[in-house]
Amino acid sequence: MSRVYNFSAGPAVLPEEVLREAAEEMMDYKGCGMSVMEMSHRSKVFDEIIKEAEADLRDLMNIPDNYKVLFLQGGASQQFAAVPMNLMKNKKAGYIITGQWAKKAFAEAKLYGEAVELASSADKTFSYIPDCSDLPITDDMDYVYICENNTIYGTKFKELPNTKGVDLVADVSSCFLSEPVDVSKYAIIYGGVQKNVGPAGVVIAIIREDLITDDVLPGTPTMLKYKTQADNDSLYNTPPCYGIYICGKVFKWLKKMGGLEVMKQKNEEKAKILYDFLDESEMFKGTVAKEDRSLMNVPFVTGDADLDAKFVKEAKAAGFENLKGHRSVGGMRASIYNAMPKEGVEKLVAFMKEFEAANK
Ligand SMILES: *Cc1c(COP(=O)(O)O)cnc(C)c1O
Repeated sequence: MSRVYNFSAGPAVLPEEVLREAAEEMMDYKGCGMSVMEMSHRSKVFDEIIKEAEADLRDLMNIPDNYKVLFLQGGASQQFAAVPMNLMKNKKAGYIITGQWAKKAFAEAKLYGEAVELASSADKTFSYIPDCSDLPITDDMDYVYICENNTIYGTKFKELPNTKGVDLVADVSSCFLSEPVDVSKYAIIYGGVQKNVGPAGVVIAIIREDLITDDVLPGTPTMLKYKTQADNDSLYNTPPCYGIYICGKVFKWLKKMGGLEVMKQKNEEKAKILYDFLDESEMFKGTVAKEDRSLMNVPFVTGDADLDAKFVKEAKAAGFENLKGHRSVGGMRASIYNAMPKEGVEKLVAFMKEFEAANK
């Protein structure tokens, strides 16, 4: 067996320990004689899996009792519609546009009501986070929306926007569980798990209870109504059972590692290795404002598209996979999620140094 260093933005690297455990349990999960893939979502065994996953997540994130945890499907992209459908009572919301994912969520919200652009960093190809201390937020807005970590551009809100008392909704797909968060500052935190948590197919939404009501936009599909999912403990229909099971294992792994405070330290350490090199290199440059740099997604360029392509190709041959930047921005991007070991980043930097010396 040989494993590469996988810098994919998502689906992405998972902890080896989790994969090994899953492999061991593949044919016979804890003596039931079947895989988790093969069992009823109404079985006692699966009930324990999903309950334990939720309990461990609550523990890890310190989720207050007045928040529900939902395990959903449809990807983060489906929440672009579910959020306005469930929350737009006044049919008005504010969006902060910091990249493609925020832009898509904004466009989707416009289908359901008045979506107002509060701020944007489009003027500099989303290479920074706009000042959000005094935005044109009005009382009649149902919520303010952010994409907290911009997977494609590599920026992160280091401070939450001043929402002037309006509820905050955050897409945290690519920074989920990368550091501690104060859940009480959000109305909804949601994310597709395939970036930093688990396999594709699961979306986790953490929603303040008072927002889960029957008062949704007319025509909201039953499945997209948070109340349907909450009333049924995420088991209204068949949930993504196997994905939830793997997420549960990742939660246990994170707890064993020491929790989110420790993950934050590790993530800062890893990111520093790469950013320090980008700052001193004459060939490779980071592409975003230093103060807004993501700990998870690190885009960089050489400034020469042919050299970028050569680097990606040679890196792949050397066992560093998926370093090509997003198709919309080019260059390179190293996603260094929780499960990427420090050694992977150190070796990548060593390889970049060699490449730079050889291609001066
Ligand atoms: C990947 C990503 C999405 C889209 O996720 P899907 O699960 O493919 O719909 C949305 N938001 C962010 C921040 C992402 O990184």
